[in-house]
Amino acid sequence: MKKTLAFALSLSIATAATAQEDSFPILFTNVHVFDGVNEQRIENANVLVVDNLIAEVSSEPLAAANARIIDGGGRTLMPGLIDAHVHMAVTEPVADLRDNYDWMYWGAVSTIEAEKMLLRGFTTVRDAGGPAIGLQKAIDRGKAVGPRIYPSGPVISQTSGHGEHRVYNEPHPNFEGAQPSFFNQHLEFLADGVPEVLRATREALRLGATQIKVMAGGGVSSTVDPLHTVQYLPEELEAAVKAAEDWGTYVLVHVYNDDSILRSIDAGVISIEHAQLMTEVSAQAIKDADVWVVPFYSLLGIDAETVAKALGPLSAPKFLEVQAGARNQMRMLKEYEIEKVAFSTDIIGDPVALTKQNDEFKYRLEVWTSHEILQQATSKSAELLALSGKLNPYTAGPLGVIEPGAYADLLLVEGNPVEDVELLVDYEANIDLIMKDGVIYKSTLD
Ligand SMILES: [Zn+2]
Repeated sequence: MKKTLAFALSLSIATAATAQEDSFPILFTNVHVFDGVNEQRIENANVLVVDNLIAEVSSEPLAAANARIIDGGGRTLMPGLIDAHVHMAVTEPVADLRDNYDWMYWGAVSTIEAEKMLLRGFTTVRDAGGPAIGLQKAIDRGKAVGPRIYPSGPVISQTSGHGEHRVYNEPHPNFEGAQPSFFNQHLEFLADGVPEVLRATREALRLGATQIKVMAGGGVSSTVDPLHTVQYLPEELEAAVKAAEDWGTYVLVHVYNDDSILRSIDAGVISIEHAQLMTEVSAQAIKDADVWVVPFYSLLGIDAETVAKALGPLSAPKFLEVQAGARNQMRMLKEYEIEKVAFSTDIIGDPVALTKQNDEFKYRLEVWTSHEILQQATSKSAELLALSGKLNPYTAGPLGVIEPGAYADLLLVEGNPVEDVELLVDYEANIDLIMKDGVIYKSTLD
């Protein structure tokens, strides 16, 4: 009877079922807990995990029948990392994927990269556009290994916007052309005017997006839209926001410049991605509107020669302009005491670059403390992702914190990352145990 029920419910309880295969509780002893929020660790603590959730956290001894005990040896136990802006399906150069491979190849490669991302300590990510919905399902059903994914589905772009990857002579689908391959592969939708934006938003929601990604200003990897461009009229942006809100979720926008940021905020967007070219005008607007900023600084580590080789003559100068704005942006976010800053890396198109995902921790040290950066990569990014509201796929408990009832997404780290977040850069050496949903995916302990 129980088996039949489990079978019948298998679609909805697949996540829990993964954890329940090893149904004994796990008791971490002798750990110092960074709970995702407080700078002061809970010293010499014990943490009990039952199934896929944290059951108890205490500095007193805990007892649990049949529990498997893991002696943390004085390491730090912290929530799994969250990257709020990745592209799981774009792990190789965009033009190469478009011209030479089919969706099967994309799926195979991104599955391999998803497992590597989990093993870098990232137990949850928000996918900021691309065909990651199937990957999310495969991972949640225990068929593939990787982080939890909040997928945005295909990015929504105006014609000649940042989601425009047709080759020059390829016709427009609404004039004389067939669907571009990236439409069919759910990387991007071209939509112009309110009705088309509404249709694209609703189609992304139909596919399974948990929030909607809109390209609202010039981008680097796209070659037809200069960085100074503002993309989408106010009414088009508002249409996307309203359609998303009707489903209980929100819009995130790709933007760099002030005009795009201001227009997006006015339209009701609550997650501002990148924004490296912002000035004080945007800093004040972001502060006043109390919206999220999701910047990335891993670009600071890339030299001009590498950029020229990787991006070519059209995109390389754009990259360098964005790179030049990054430090100024970081300083402003700090000076304006903007609290809603999420952790993100936005590394796309290169499996080697992806191995440097954790370098983001060291770049942020230029203005933020280790503690602030850890908050960004745990409880704060979790707060942002939870804004997907009724479409949130992970609702059994909070993510990004260590507290009773929270998901058992945990890392055991050598040393104290609250004082030295750079420990996480060398994830292979310093992250000794990785647990997601109560299941251990890496352990160097006995
Ligand atoms: Zn992106």
